[in-house]
Amino acid sequence: MHAGSLLAAVGSFLHARAQNGHWHLRIDDIDPPRAVPESVAAIQKSLECHGLPFDGDVQYQSHHTVRYEHALNRLNERGDLFYCVCTRAMLGPTGSCQNACADKNQTNAASASLRVKVPPDTFITLDDDFLGSQSWHLGQQLSDFVVRRRDGLYAYQLAAAVDDAAPLATQVTRGSDLLDSTPRQVFLQRRLGLSSPQYGHLPIIKDQNGFKLSKQQGATAVDDDHPANNLRGAVRALGQPSPPSNLKDPASLLAWSLAQWDPSRVPR
Ligand SMILES: [Zn+2]
Repeated sequence: MHAGSLLAAVGSFLHARAQNGHWHLRIDDIDPPRAVPESVAAIQKSLECHGLPFDGDVQYQSHHTVRYEHALNRLNERGDLFYCVCTRAMLGPTGSCQNACADKNQTNAASASLRVKVPPDTFITLDDDFLGSQSWHLGQQLSDFVVRRRDGLYAYQLAAAVDDAAPLATQVTRGSDLLDSTPRQVFLQRRLGLSSPQYGHLPIIKDQNGFKLSKQQGATAVDDDHPANNLRGAVRALGQPSPPSNLKDPASLLAWSLAQWDPSRVPR
């Protein structure tokens, strides 16, 4: 974990626990080239060092493919899907194939992706736990999007929409870099007849160049030997009071922060 993922972990942990909720760890590993078993062990160890125990077993999206296939079948039965054979160069600025394929009734070509149709009058509004009221004119801002990639892998939007839906999860707390994905996922949940969870988007940590901290951008891992320091930094970045300096161990520091937790203090 780097400082950004620790902040998301601490924020979602405190927010769940403050409502007497469970807190689950899910590994989004549907994109096999990115899934590394050692990194899962490292995440678990780092969470443990930081006094962040998750409930139940680790969940892996790669174990949920039946669930995603079922969702695709359901969308297909409704006539919500179409095959898209557009190349990257043919796509419009929003990544949409501008309905060029929607009317052509493409067959299941080996190189086709599957897209979901978004009616032009689609509006999505939700009350974010930290950002307040959010709304999108989805039909205009982001049109038909990919739910199964041309390489046959399930798209992140589909997998997350299915796994994040209530009653599988009741609350999703994550970085605001994913705020653009939320209306697409809520749209899919509605088309699938699933209830949406409550969403909350936390601030993200950026590097000197203004990019979100990420492993791909070379962000360094938090030092598991100094968990209290790391937790203090995360709690402060979440706009919460700084834990007293006499609290040295992660569990008591988090217990103190849990008692002070106030979602309205989280910076927007
Ligand atoms: Zn297309």
